[in-house]
Amino acid sequence: MNQARGDCYHDATLKARFSVLASVLAAALLLAGRNVDVTAQAPPAALTYQVIGRDARRPLPARLLANQEMFALDDLARVFELTVREDLAAGGVTVAARGQTIVLSAGQPLASVGGRLVSLGAAPVREGRTWFVPADFISRALALALGTRIDVRRPSRLIVPGDVRVPQVAARLESLGGVARLTLDVSPATPHTVSQEGSRLLVRFEADALDPSLPAVSTVPELVASVHAGEAPTTLVVDLGPRFASFRSADSPGDRGGSRLAIDIAAQTTEAAPANPGPTGPPQLPELPPLLDLAPAGGVRTIVIDAGHGGDDQGATGGAGTLEKTVALSVARRLKGALESRLGVRVILTRDADRSVALDERAAVANNNQADLFISLHANASVRPGIAGAEVFYLSLEAYGEEGQRVAHGDADVLPVFGGGARDIEVTPWELAQARHIEQSAALAQAVDRALREQIPMGPRAIQPAPLRVLIGVNMPAVLVEMAFLTNPQQEKDVATDTFQNAIVQALVNAVVSFRDAPPGAPVLPGAPAAPGTR
Ligand SMILES: [Zn+2]
Repeated sequence: MNQARGDCYHDATLKARFSVLASVLAAALLLAGRNVDVTAQAPPAALTYQVIGRDARRPLPARLLANQEMFALDDLARVFELTVREDLAAGGVTVAARGQTIVLSAGQPLASVGGRLVSLGAAPVREGRTWFVPADFISRALALALGTRIDVRRPSRLIVPGDVRVPQVAARLESLGGVARLTLDVSPATPHTVSQEGSRLLVRFEADALDPSLPAVSTVPELVASVHAGEAPTTLVVDLGPRFASFRSADSPGDRGGSRLAIDIAAQTTEAAPANPGPTGPPQLPELPPLLDLAPAGGVRTIVIDAGHGGDDQGATGGAGTLEKTVALSVARRLKGALESRLGVRVILTRDADRSVALDERAAVANNNQADLFISLHANASVRPGIAGAEVFYLSLEAYGEEGQRVAHGDADVLPVFGGGARDIEVTPWELAQARHIEQSAALAQAVDRALREQIPMGPRAIQPAPLRVLIGVNMPAVLVEMAFLTNPQQEKDVATDTFQNAIVQALVNAVVSFRDAPPGAPVLPGAPAAPGTR
């Protein structure tokens, strides 16, 4: 799929995987130097809960009875120091807890606690001489009898009595190009510190224990080798990867009384030198913008790259059979990688496979992800094989309805052109989304044109406003780039090469940087409409 963030950290499987019991196992196995999938290796004791105390944790086995997790009263008696007495005549059982009496009856989803009735999720079950009670017996009846709160946390199989502090810590790891961001959502908010000790970061919480859910595998291994529970029960460990250079952390308020801790882990800013530096002297390192300061307020954080066409819609076809949809996807993928790694921005592709995507859907991907820029990639076609060069388009409302402004692209990107003025076109509010970004789109087009000019041949009408269907609904600065003419035999050959595609990628990265860094209110293109075409 096309999501830049592989958000797979929060599902229940992973939570279960990192139950505290599992963490103990994991710690042991991690010490053996292996990153393991604990679920696969956990013994069937997975139905064991841990009762967290200040100084110790005690196991409490559960059993599945009638699709309910149930606990044996005898086990509860051991852990919570209760006295259980069966009353065979009455068909029930009494539980004495700190002077309070709880009465249970077979077949009744109720408990009487000192004469107060509380409802239970299921009736107690009697097996032989053993009585089983549902989990909410603990949180409702037993807690009431003991005069304290008892949290039964099913996902992590923890039972947390009273004032024991066991914050939930949900970790999420994502790549922002040269930066890995580890986000810890801590609930309830708990004081903590982050410190570096050798090749790891330690996050220490002021708590009695932790209830963590952690990513099973690092998606950014060069910066973060793994995130796991520490030897101390209140510490998380971030094992750093080989490219680690520095980190910084920041706290912010989270949801419902929680807090969010974000730790940015930055890579070394220079890339490794090439293995064979040429005879012409030291290798030239590409000029990289500084990490971690890449997204000033109002800056460029998310970019949507739209590979034109796809699936049944092949777009233009070259004489030798080169397909526009294929070239567009290839450049889009390269561009994503380059933007992510060099600028640390989030990049989303409207398609990352040879599949058809409706034009409205492409705009929706950009709008729904609140992208800051939209770049649509295409290759051109003309009936004249002599025509060559790249062209950059942005949306022009003036261009609507003017026959002469019609883009000679000849594919579905072009709105049907009506005779007469713009009023003849039915424009819905959604379709007007681009209208308020046209100045910025023109500025972006200008930056793209300038950058492309340094890398590849440009066409006779290199930059122009045009009524492009794919751009209309996009609610952010947007351009469409026709990279070359597939109908020109030389260009068809060129556009399929790594050299050409990388040159376009380099140009577009440069264009994004210069657009991003342009002072606000910088002059944009004079709105000169393109001259009538000669295609
Ligand atoms: Zn196209």
